[in-house]
Amino acid sequence: MGRRRKKRKLVARRPRKTIPSVFQCPNCGKIAITVELNKPTNGVKHAIVRCGNCGLYAEMDVPEIFQNVDVYGRFLDGFYSGTLEYDFITPVKEEKTEELA
Ligand SMILES: [Zn+2]
Repeated sequence: MGRRRKKRKLVARRPRKTIPSVFQCPNCGKIAITVELNKPTNGVKHAIVRCGNCGLYAEMDVPEIFQNVDVYGRFLDGFYSGTLEYDFITPVKEEKTEELA
């Protein structure tokens, strides 16, 4: 009997196109930074960076060609050099049960 198992699971390829969508937070150290990119207008798009753990929040305008990882890089630069304007917002917890006070 020709039993053939597809070995797909054993392929350890790491396509470079896979861009991580969650990054490490420079403030709390958790891998909880997400980058949101809005549609570009006149070659510029608005990016929102936030940490799901500590609530670090920053907005910036970046060139249209920027991807999440580029925004994150600029975010880190700004954070460490003190040029980034950022804030803290309360992280939204994704809980299914709602507590009604
Ligand atoms: Zn954080």
